[in-house]
Amino acid sequence: MNKEKLFEEVESSARSYCRSFPTVFTQSKGSLIYDNKGNKFVDFLSGAGALNYGHNNDVIKNSVMSYLEKDGIAMSLDLHSQSKLEFIEAFSSCILKPRNLEYKIQFTSPTGTSVVESAVKLARKYTKRENVVCFTNAFHGMTGVSLSLTGSNSHRQGQSYSNVTRFPFEGYAGSEFNSIDYYRKLLTDPSSGIDLPAAIILETVQAEGGLNVASVEWLQDLRLLTSELGILLIIDDIQTGCGRSGSFFSFERAGIKPDLVCLSKSIGGMGLPMALLLIDSALDVWRPAEDNGTFRGNNLAFVASTAMVKHFWSDEKFELEVADKALYINQYLNQIVAKYPALCIKTKGIGLMQGIEMRDEAYSEFLVKDCFANGVIVERCGPHDEVFKLMPALTIDYTTLNQGFAVIDAAFAKLSNQTVNTSQTADAGEGRYV
Ligand SMILES: *Cc1c(COP(=O)(O)O)cnc(C)c1O
Repeated sequence: MNKEKLFEEVESSARSYCRSFPTVFTQSKGSLIYDNKGNKFVDFLSGAGALNYGHNNDVIKNSVMSYLEKDGIAMSLDLHSQSKLEFIEAFSSCILKPRNLEYKIQFTSPTGTSVVESAVKLARKYTKRENVVCFTNAFHGMTGVSLSLTGSNSHRQGQSYSNVTRFPFEGYAGSEFNSIDYYRKLLTDPSSGIDLPAAIILETVQAEGGLNVASVEWLQDLRLLTSELGILLIIDDIQTGCGRSGSFFSFERAGIKPDLVCLSKSIGGMGLPMALLLIDSALDVWRPAEDNGTFRGNNLAFVASTAMVKHFWSDEKFELEVADKALYINQYLNQIVAKYPALCIKTKGIGLMQGIEMRDEAYSEFLVKDCFANGVIVERCGPHDEVFKLMPALTIDYTTLNQGFAVIDAAFAKLSNQTVNTSQTADAGEGRYV
């Protein structure tokens, strides 16, 4: 019997990414993943942003191995542990201090959706208000409150479990539309029907929502508006953080200080589950044990994260390398868009989360499949999955990056040929590819 059938037979139909990449993975190093059939793949998905520093990075992995070797404590609820102490020290001195950011750190349950739940819970407790504003095309997770904040109807199944109001993200209603004026009107008009919210939550780059990048000006105006009205500003930096957008925090480019910051995904260094809520000290109104959870002391993640922070973020070198790589990727994608105007609308994104908005979701679907068949793992995003999304590790070397690009080049060439052939031969009304 083919054992691999067990996934389909036994694992719930809730499974997701494995449907796009149907093989069994066995090993991984840096930006390469291997399967049980001897295939090698370049990883442009990076655990959806949980592997910013690549697979099994030696510095991070070795620190975890030697910690386990010494029988370092692995599970400790939220008891004081040496590894947590070292993490707090490293995070404060390498990340917060150099950026003049002062925050209390809350170790929430170790997933993205849990830290969002905690952030909103705290904002509601602090302000004694219930409503929370979120944005079109937002993604904040798949449980209770987080799911209510998420835009996608297919994720929410049309349900909302929580008191939320949705505003159009910057650019959503067209570039002429002054969104900040519109928010101000709705938030200050006692007859608008919108209760003053506890918080406004957003991603500075909507990662699942289509790589929509908020402008510096809009972020600054939103910070001013929320401060003026006493609304807390929550930045969901779960995917955009830890260097993905170019700097450690995605909001650094706007020079703003959010009241609450959600981190998860790559904060665990090598893909270990961990999440942090950064809290402006004045807002830290939790009673002891009020936001409790069992797994808030993943010491292996603390050790990995400490190694990550010290190795990559103790000076500016890494950030500069990421900026060079971001420029290189941007030039590559722009050249593709220029070469295939019939397939592509435009490049999107920032940092090492960039992509191409395709003219048809069938095009991005073809690209994902063809790339996988030829050794590149890459995903799509956007309301219709129409954005072809590159998320290489921040540590990827140029040789591997170019290997991935060669596969993408071939996929585009194939798609272009087939599209031309299809539109020449197909009957009217069947112009769509696939
Ligand atoms: C992935 C993600 C989440 C949810 O994180 P999980 O660990 O999957 O619960 C929330 N917000 C953003 C922006 C994300 O990318």
